[in-house]
Amino acid sequence: MFKEYDVIVVGAGHAGCEAAAAAANLGSSVLLITMNMETIAQMSCNPAMGGVAKGQIVREIDAMGGYSGIIADKTTLQFRMLNKSKGPAMWSPRTQNDRKRFAEEWRLALERTPNVDFWQEMVGSLLIKNNTVVGVKTALGVEIYGKAVVLTNGTFLNGIIHVGEKKFGGGRTGEKAATGLTEQLTELGFEAGRMKTGTPPRIDGRSLDYTRMEEQWGDENPGRFSYTNVTLPKDQRCCWITYTNENVHETLKEGFEKSPMFTGRIKGLGPRYCPSIEDKINRFAERERHQIFVEPEGWNTCEIYVNGFSTSLPEDVQYKALTQIPGFENAKMFRPGYAIEYDYFPPTQLSLTLETKLISNLFFAGQINGTTGYEEAASQGFIAGINAHQKVNDAHELIMKRSESYIGVLIDDLVTKGTEEPYRMFTSRAEHRLLLRQDNADIRLSPIAHKLGLISDERLAIVNQKIANSDAIVAFTKEQGVQMSEANSLLESLGTAPLNQNVKLFSVLSRPQVGIEDIRKVSSSFDQLLNTFDQETVEQAEIKIKYESYFEKENEIVNKMQKMEDKSINPDFDYNQLVSLSKEAREKLLKIKPRTLGQASRISGVSPSDISVLMVHISK
Ligand code: FAD
Repeated sequence: MFKEYDVIVVGAGHAGCEAAAAAANLGSSVLLITMNMETIAQMSCNPAMGGVAKGQIVREIDAMGGYSGIIADKTTLQFRMLNKSKGPAMWSPRTQNDRKRFAEEWRLALERTPNVDFWQEMVGSLLIKNNTVVGVKTALGVEIYGKAVVLTNGTFLNGIIHVGEKKFGGGRTGEKAATGLTEQLTELGFEAGRMKTGTPPRIDGRSLDYTRMEEQWGDENPGRFSYTNVTLPKDQRCCWITYTNENVHETLKEGFEKSPMFTGRIKGLGPRYCPSIEDKINRFAERERHQIFVEPEGWNTCEIYVNGFSTSLPEDVQYKALTQIPGFENAKMFRPGYAIEYDYFPPTQLSLTLETKLISNLFFAGQINGTTGYEEAASQGFIAGINAHQKVNDAHELIMKRSESYIGVLIDDLVTKGTEEPYRMFTSRAEHRLLLRQDNADIRLSPIAHKLGLISDERLAIVNQKIANSDAIVAFTKEQGVQMSEANSLLESLGTAPLNQNVKLFSVLSRPQVGIEDIRKVSSSFDQLLNTFDQETVEQAEIKIKYESYFEKENEIVNKMQKMEDKSINPDFDYNQLVSLSKEAREKLLKIKPRTLGQASRISGVSPSDISVLMVHISK
């Protein structure tokens, strides 16, 4: 029934979809096997993409030819650029999305991708020969052969759903758990762990009183994730904000004795930064209220997602507490919130390509690696799909650097440090975040994708033109002066000191209070120049002008650190021969098998003196 595939992807969540698309777009024949083809790219929790640091990841995937940004744009209900009042390193695009349309568009995109075949079934085990994966065996007993396999099982491996004291097997509400794989992998020598996550109840929007809530509209001039020309929806939908109160908290507390979290029935650790409402009340007892975002689930549904109210308390307690929230007095519940526990595999068992160290040609991506979030999953899937293709074609591997992408930070953190609780991305995890901005993901990453063959010559040419155009604007500001007489009244109105001599435009624009849109009003030649470029190019030039000296300093740091990153270590290096290493360092180095001295220096337990020992031996 089946030919031998180049790459078999197990699971069609965010990781699996990007993995399948990337491998297929590079030319691999791909089979995407998933338990339910109706839930391809299902958003299990929040119908939203992006947000702080996550939005940067979506831009990075898009800059490299992945699909998540395009699909998020096509299905946008509302777009907001978060943190716009802070520096550009913090600007983070976020969309509210139509959950159904998001899944539909992903399926369509995959169906339109040549080289992707589909099969709906549960994979129960892997076929392994000489420590190399050669295919998969499904629950029906069908054996399908593939040169590489990417596992992206998400929250499904031995998943258990909890609502109050009730618990049952499931990978997501209404879907079966996946069994067999964890057992086989642990027999093969993999270490597995348990994690948990949760989701809020969904509400009938017709039963809510929106007059009691604050409106939250999207941006007036909405942006986008994709650097391509996706047609955005014409309209946006409103979201709302309301708050819990002490009555809500008291009601929720009544259910604590039946809470699977507090009675110890849930053993796995949950996402620290996405706590359940009961966790928030427990941990932040002094807080009188918590913010609730009331978010529509789609264009053609009245279903509402209650962001901030994730819970696994009994359904009657959830309901009673909800009806005490302003605007929710007459709320009707569509679906209760729940928590789910599932197996994951500590990601230190992977190399930086996301291939497992134990079994060749076997890759893991997404929640199976202990992460949480669609964006984190999608980016890993994308890289695993690329590397699976490269591996079966004996082509060079793709290892993303920490200094060039959030994706690089994510994978390096996972593989080098591991994670014991669901890992989500933050800007603070990236030491070079000033360089890893949402506005320049194309400049940073499109050349890499072009070299791989994932984006066209035309697309790279657009990126190069953006660089040339923004450089031309910067050069103009360094040459062209501004007349004191013309600028001073503007500067005063902006609350910044007037000029006492004529200066270059660049010098005025470097002031934090002065924007490019202000200064074009007092320089007609500058205005004329800017009129020839699009908004994104003008914005890019402004960022370059304002932060030039910071970027230069940051680049110097990157270059210095790069020396450590360039010192490669043979993965088979025998650390046992280095007697001067501490015992802990030796054990960790043998386990992680770092690829570079830089990576070795980030392993917890490896001290600067261990690094000095290593440096001497590597340099020999
Ligand atoms: P998933 O999206 O889970 O997809 C896994 C896919 O694999 C599915 O298509 C499934 O059918 C398929 N599959 C699994 N096993 C097999 C098998 N053996 N054979 C064939 N197919 C298989 N993220 C957040 O950032 N914040 C949150 O608050 C949050 N809450 C969540 C709450 C719940 C209840 C759930 C379920 C998830 C939550 N998430 C949350 C996580 C988010 O959904 C995931 O991070 C993301 O979907 C992971 O993507 P993935 O591709 O790794 O896996």
